[in-house]
Amino acid sequence: MSEKFEAHEIRDRIVINYKYTMGGQSKFFIELMKNKKILGTRCKKCDKVWMPPRINCSDCFEDTEWIELKPEGEILISTIAWFTTSAFIQNVPYAMGFIKIEGADTGMLQGIFSDNLVPTKIKKGKKVKAVFNKYREGKMTDFFFVPEEEYENWISKSDFEGGG
Ligand SMILES: [Zn+2]
Repeated sequence: MSEKFEAHEIRDRIVINYKYTMGGQSKFFIELMKNKKILGTRCKKCDKVWMPPRINCSDCFEDTEWIELKPEGEILISTIAWFTTSAFIQNVPYAMGFIKIEGADTGMLQGIFSDNLVPTKIKKGKKVKAVFNKYREGKMTDFFFVPEEEYENWISKSDFEGGG
């Protein structure tokens, strides 16, 4: 007897609860969440200031120390995002760019929001300030940058506030 195999399938789902650690960068996320502070690290040997923070200097491999940086800086390079993941879909279009925070020697990639997003608002050298979510989870999405002339308007919105 020749009979075609037919697999019986049942649709089900798997739920996975997990947590992960930020490891040596944990202090950055804790200070961001609790105190709205942006911390970088400074190399104990060559004084280079890393932002995002690194626990060891990538130039001379020495230990670094935590330092608080001002929640403002300038745009090194930027672009406008029209496609994104579900996490940011409500913000499209928005800008993102490498921001050189005042006092840092390196740039960090972060979102740049504007009430009137046009290329001149996010051009190289433009001054930006950090705006923090009122509800923070200790994630990079707890804050974003805005053109400095829009800062007061952004921190007056109910979901956001200025740096600590
Ligand atoms: Zn160094």
